[in-house]
Amino acid sequence: MKTSSSNPFHINVFDVSHRTGEDREKHLEFPAPDRLGEGIAFIAEGTPIVMDVRLEGLHDGILVSAEVSTVASGECVRCLDEVSLPIEVEFQELFAYSPTEELEFSVHDNHVDCEPLVRDAVVLELPFQPLCNEDCLGLDPETGEKLTEPRSATSSDIDPRWAALEALASDTTTTATKPAAKKRT
Ligand SMILES: [Zn+2]
Repeated sequence: MKTSSSNPFHINVFDVSHRTGEDREKHLEFPAPDRLGEGIAFIAEGTPIVMDVRLEGLHDGILVSAEVSTVASGECVRCLDEVSLPIEVEFQELFAYSPTEELEFSVHDNHVDCEPLVRDAVVLELPFQPLCNEDCLGLDPETGEKLTEPRSATSSDIDPRWAALEALASDTTTTATKPAAKKRT
């Protein structure tokens, strides 16, 4: 078990605790204490996490608003190259001084535990199918090499470049008579 002093997601709220109207801003930077996310894309242990947190003392608790930025790692689902994806999320939560049924989160020992909120927000933002590039063509199924251009057309497909040439060719012929090149069956 991590104690509140060693868990970087536990934020000290002493300055605003039971001081309605007080607010504080905190800038936190720390390495992820462990992995976030179970999918192909995840936040690796040790990845820097940056949190800009605003704490506001309210009558019944402390309103915590945070912007979190970090970087996800993973591999492209098409070409298997490693990818790094910047992740930016926000959350806002009221931590009650005394827990109630409506308020799931509460202040403990002048600290608020933002870990579940950060985890939920970050994990939701992780792509299920990360790509190195939207246009990634993946691997050639025959060679296993990463494709840099679309695979050459199979016999049943007309290569779009040839189709374009064909269109050009027909443009140069007169419009009065259609070229007879097309097969009529
Ligand atoms: Zn890729």
